[in-house]
Amino acid sequence: MGLTRRDILVGGASLCAGVGLSTLSSASEAESDLQPLRVAHLTDIHLRPGKLPEESLARALHSAQELGADLIVNGGDVIFDALNTDRSQVERQWKTLHRLLKAESSTPWLHVVGNHDILGWSTPKREPGTKLETLGQLELSKSFYSVERGGWKIVVLDSIEYAPQRSSGYLARLGWEQLEWFERELRQNELPVCVFSHIPILSACAYFDGPNEEGDNWSVPGEWMHLDARAVKDLLRGHPQVKLCLSGHIHLVDNLQYHGVSYFCNGAVCGNYWQGSLQGFPPALALVELYPDGRFRNRLVFY
Ligand SMILES: [Zn+2]
Repeated sequence: MGLTRRDILVGGASLCAGVGLSTLSSASEAESDLQPLRVAHLTDIHLRPGKLPEESLARALHSAQELGADLIVNGGDVIFDALNTDRSQVERQWKTLHRLLKAESSTPWLHVVGNHDILGWSTPKREPGTKLETLGQLELSKSFYSVERGGWKIVVLDSIEYAPQRSSGYLARLGWEQLEWFERELRQNELPVCVFSHIPILSACAYFDGPNEEGDNWSVPGEWMHLDARAVKDLLRGHPQVKLCLSGHIHLVDNLQYHGVSYFCNGAVCGNYWQGSLQGFPPALALVELYPDGRFRNRLVFY
């Protein structure tokens, strides 16, 4: 399916959540004099073998390329599920993914690790080491890292901390080693920064992912939003070059502003696990434009 400008604008307008123009005073002005780095954010693909998911992902990849993406970011949960699925089926999911990415995309990728990408962590046989297998599938030597592209520093965080005390097997937390690394990365950097994490650092839509107000108090599980959000937002306050933090995981869409940072939760490529929309949000990817002077724009695209 070819994408028109209207597909993007209608999408952004109808959801009122896809556009982050707070630091972009005039889109047309910016478009005329500076070329942005275009990043397609495809989060929560949840690919499994089958006609609908495979054709849909191919369409999303074609859309990203038609929109001029210089880079595609897999935002995590790229395969349907490994947390609670036997190894042979998980291997089929990875094979399907590798075949499709090779056939349908020539754009460079960055990969973010998602909870569903890790084998067995929600089963009693969980072992911390299976995260290394995920890194192998994604050809990553480390689960958190940074790159410089188009005058920006892009930081990829690993949200998924091993937590055998939880039935899920994980909690949304960076841990000390990664937090210290993140702090060093920011201290040594003067470029504008865009951060990707699978699980939102800060989120409004996480409140609506389940009956979280039961019991007369709002309650958001530690698997749904970063438990160390307080430490991370304190760190970001000291580094105004951090402009935006992008995530997925919830399959819903929001945009928050907090202490000068824009937080976007960018929906899901699979929508409601390949069964249409979830709470009014259809399957989507996001087009993120990063201008070399630090301005940016985040728009949802209903591919
Ligand atoms: Zn997830």
